[in-house]
Amino acid sequence: MKASVLKRVQKLVRKEIQALKSYHVPDSKGMIKLDAMENPFQWPGDLGNKWTEALAGVSVNRYPDPHAAELTAKIRAFMSVPEEFDIMLGNGSDELIQTIALALAGEGRSIMAPEPGFVMYSMIATFCGMDYVGLPLGNNFELDTAAFKEAMEQHEPAVVFLAQPNNPTGNLFGEEKVRRIIEGCPGLVVLDEAYLPFSDSNLMPLLQDYDNVVIMRTFSKMGLAGLRLGVLVGRHEWLVEFDKLRLPYNINVLTQESAKFALDNVDVLNKQTALLRASRSELYTALGKIPFVHPYQSEANFILVRLDRAPARTVFAQLKEKGILIKCLDGAHPLLANCLRITVGTAQENAAFLSAFETILKSHHSSE
Ligand SMILES: *Cc1c(COP(=O)(O)O)cnc(C)c1O
Repeated sequence: MKASVLKRVQKLVRKEIQALKSYHVPDSKGMIKLDAMENPFQWPGDLGNKWTEALAGVSVNRYPDPHAAELTAKIRAFMSVPEEFDIMLGNGSDELIQTIALALAGEGRSIMAPEPGFVMYSMIATFCGMDYVGLPLGNNFELDTAAFKEAMEQHEPAVVFLAQPNNPTGNLFGEEKVRRIIEGCPGLVVLDEAYLPFSDSNLMPLLQDYDNVVIMRTFSKMGLAGLRLGVLVGRHEWLVEFDKLRLPYNINVLTQESAKFALDNVDVLNKQTALLRASRSELYTALGKIPFVHPYQSEANFILVRLDRAPARTVFAQLKEKGILIKCLDGAHPLLANCLRITVGTAQENAAFLSAFETILKSHHSSE
């Protein structure tokens, strides 16, 4: 029986899917969780009660508003989206990436993105049967526009993804470079601003200047990862096509209600992100003081570090034993050799991490 199931699976499931590894999420029960760029704060004070009261009024027996009209109007105001541009919502921006890829997929069609970058771009390329071209960043993760433009001429990508700030490096490529890529791109450029709340960058104005650009944002990193809500902003001509591929009720009633509630109380989220930005600079300074640790400047809610004298994988495992989960990026890309990524948490969590990290590193440095 078992052998015959396997035979049928192997015959029917696309080879490239069989070759994939599913997106790995480590068990984090009871741990200090600094691995996934989540906001560590919950609703303060009685806002938690107000939120559950709002949810109690939701009709879960009914399908959601398929266009999430009320929520979309609030998002338009919150993000200052000009009337001339459309907004489409996704079940996380991951779903939006997939929708765009589905719309642009086809024989010889490719997705191009700088690397190291967000892993979902390449995974979704495979889901949708597209080729993926990853172009290495420079030694300090800067974008080499000349090399990128040359690669675009060669591969003629249907779509280029640029995350600004970039994950997992945390830096901005700079607006001028982004403009050069857009101008040299024969396809669509998706500007992924998942970390916008933690940077001073805002590329929305570029929509006015180019017709091959869409802007992607998410509620995840600003504090609502559990809701799964991504936002795509762009010209009607693009979004009307993408909207055909959107599954009818992709934003559930609880998410619609919760996100409206969040935007009505957005000051709370803004305060939290401001606090995290301040903690990020404290964490960066503290990391810079540890011998043989090189932190990279970040415009996001995480910091990438390279270890000069200790094996990142071992240090990661030792932190995990102490109940602290970060992300080990060694092996993910040649430019990330011996690198770790730490999400900025609460002051307490950051302090617990720093103390454990220093202790572990000391033992490595002294045993050399
Ligand atoms: C986290 C992240 C996203 C995905 O966000 P969701 O809205 O939670 O799906 C998209 N792009 C980048 C660069 C990210 O780091």
